[in-house]
Amino acid sequence: MRIHDARAIAEGASGRNGGFALSGGAARYDIARETYGAEQAAALWRWTEEALDRMEELAGDALRRPGSYRLAADEEERDEIRLEYEALREDGFEAEWLDDVPGGAAGRFRGAISRPGGGSIQPARFVRRLAARAAAAGAEIREHDTVEDVEALDADRVLVATDGYGRGLTPELDGLIWPTRGQVIASAPLDRIFYDRPHYARQGFDYWQQLPDGRIVLGGFRDVSILDELTDVEETTPAIQSSLESFLHELAGERVQITHRWAGIFGLTQDMLPLVGPIPGRDGRVWVAGGYSGHGNVPGFACGELVADALLGNTSSPQLELFDPARFAG
Ligand SMILES: Cc1cc2nc3c(=O)[nH]c(=O)nc-3n(C[C@H](O)[C@H](O)[C@H](O)COP(=O)(O)OP(=O)(O)OC[C@H]3O[C@@H](n4cnc5c(N)ncnc54)[C@H](O)[C@@H]3O)c2cc1C
Repeated sequence: MRIHDARAIAEGASGRNGGFALSGGAARYDIARETYGAEQAAALWRWTEEALDRMEELAGDALRRPGSYRLAADEEERDEIRLEYEALREDGFEAEWLDDVPGGAAGRFRGAISRPGGGSIQPARFVRRLAARAAAAGAEIREHDTVEDVEALDADRVLVATDGYGRGLTPELDGLIWPTRGQVIASAPLDRIFYDRPHYARQGFDYWQQLPDGRIVLGGFRDVSILDELTDVEETTPAIQSSLESFLHELAGERVQITHRWAGIFGLTQDMLPLVGPIPGRDGRVWVAGGYSGHGNVPGFACGELVADALLGNTSSPQLELFDPARFAG
């Protein structure tokens, strides 16, 4: 096996993300039930829960699992996430409804779902550990090696795993996986932990966590200029950075020093499900795994296992049908 990466390992979104390691898909669970079917949604959620357990075995200190809070910013969102909470409970998933949350977010939101199991990952550290295992198992890793033409590669099969990057490499994916920019800032370490687990609000448009050293890492506000963020230009913008800054000071309860700012690109799909499988029209030789719609830490890991199994001939997983790139054909 050979890996070509235009950059170095974990320099794409896997080293630039918000570090949420949550089970489930990118859509709300109640919406997922309506859109993908009740059985498929439940199976997908359970599949990612199992993936998180396997990630824990590999991650060492790169993964913490204190759970997460999904917060309602207003009454409308409260009604929406109540639907998700009820759907999760109906299908036997662990979830608790809180009218208020403890910690720094207390008194500021209109309710929350507390979910155990998930938590926070140091994604670059985790992905580098996976790469070291792959290299130890015999994979050749070629960094700073951009693939210009998948058909010209000397390989029986090719897997395109560029998520939001790599536009133009397989033109038929360009209309299916839309590059989308996310921006993040991090504060200097604070002397108290206000947020003991990942928090997210406004349908995931805002997400933050506090690292063990006290830094708050905050991402989001893509909706400030949502069309401008449909881009693969990896740079921060004043409009979103200033919204992030104001909110960061609010979260910290005082003006805090900002030490890091960055942007990264993720791949968004129409139904918020990834594409995993052979790319139609390529004779089964070129495959894709990508389009995690901003929620790739756990699903991306699970899809890596899924596609590796499928390439080796095990195509029995129900997720392969759900993620089949051919669902968009025609
Ligand atoms: C700002 C931000 C915040 C996010 N927050 C979270 C979060 O909190 N939780 C979560 O679950 N998900 C989050 N995501 C999504 C998650 O980061 C991604 O879905 C995931 O990292 C994708 O992993 P990947 O390995 O498929 O792709 P990437 O890590 O993006 O890697 C793609 C690689 O493809 C390479 N490449 C592109 N074109 C070529 C070419 N022609 N030849 C060779 N190599 C090429 C690039 O160099 C890059 O290294 C976030 C994403 C962003 C951008």
